[in-house]
Amino acid sequence: MTDACCCPPEAGNAVCDRSAETLQRPRRATNVCPVCGMKGKPVQGQTVKTLLSVSLRAVQAVEYLFCKSRTCPVVYFSLNGEQTFTTAQIRERVYQKEPTSGDVLVCYCFRHSAGDIRTASPAAHTAIIDDINTGISAGQCACDLRNPQGACCLGNVRVLIKEIGA
Ligand SMILES: [Zn+2]
Repeated sequence: MTDACCCPPEAGNAVCDRSAETLQRPRRATNVCPVCGMKGKPVQGQTVKTLLSVSLRAVQAVEYLFCKSRTCPVVYFSLNGEQTFTTAQIRERVYQKEPTSGDVLVCYCFRHSAGDIRTASPAAHTAIIDDINTGISAGQCACDLRNPQGACCLGNVRVLIKEIGA
């Protein structure tokens, strides 16, 4: 940069390579939840629009991230940190926010709840994983539209089964 520099003249440097715009922008770790400080995971706009229970007039043309922090009420926040949507503004209950509930879904496409998985036998666990995989292969899943995390549940299901076995 040349004349866009905002260093004060007393710095004795008329030209610096940092633009005025960069220096004036407030510093913020943009992928971090403004409430709990945990790193969020980017989600598609479709996911946010599908899962919000409030008017979509509130949705902005910005990137949204998913906060999976269990103790944080925020489900989605905007990359600029100016907007948050909490569990009360989401149509689905969110597994990550209440993992010990029996009736919260882990697999939102094929409706397997945390309680069902927790009380199932090892053989039934295999059957649940098979059911999900079969559904995925048949193109029947819609994780981006049904799962609040906007992505496949299989990792969460596997972790939960592992925890039960441990
Ligand atoms: Zn959070």
